Amino acid sequence: MDCKKAERFLLRSLDGRLDHENRALLQAHLEKCPSCQKKDREYQMILSLVRPQTVPELLPYFKERLLAKLKEKERTAPALLWVKWAHRAVAFSLATFLLFGAGILFFQPQEPRELSRTERFLLQDENPLGEAGSILDQKKAEDRNMMLIFASVGDTDVSRRYRP
Ligand SMILES: [Zn+2]
Repeated sequence: MDCKKAERFLLRSLDGRLDHENRALLQAHLEKCPSCQKKDREYQMILSLVRPQTVPELLPYFKERLLAKLKEKERTAPALLWVKWAHRAVAFSLATFLLFGAGILFFQPQEPRELSRTERFLLQDENPLGEAGSILDQKKAEDRNMMLIFASVGDTDVSRRYRP
């Protein structure tokens, strides 16, 4: 019996589909073939994992691998701590960036642009109504009348000045 046939028999025996005669042949092969013995153990192990009622045997070198994994975890733990700090650093730098951005937004030099008529009135205090308002506060009636006349003249000047 070659190993290929032995493997086929092995699978069949696991299913319980191998008759007594072939089972004996397989057993004979397994006794002198270490590689098929290994396969047999692997299949048994897989079966034990698949069948819920059987307690799975520990894999070879399970303890060693477990210990290695634990050591690995110890090694990665400081890295995780660093990641935590890195996240904080990122948050901090992001906040700084936002503040910086806001600073640029608020303190950027005014671009020279054409002011609208309303803006000119507001910013340069050239609202003729404001002028008229101060005139109306004047106590003396004559002064008020005189100044209103001059203001009305000024108003036409202002409107002429800001005509686009
Ligand atoms: Zn074999």
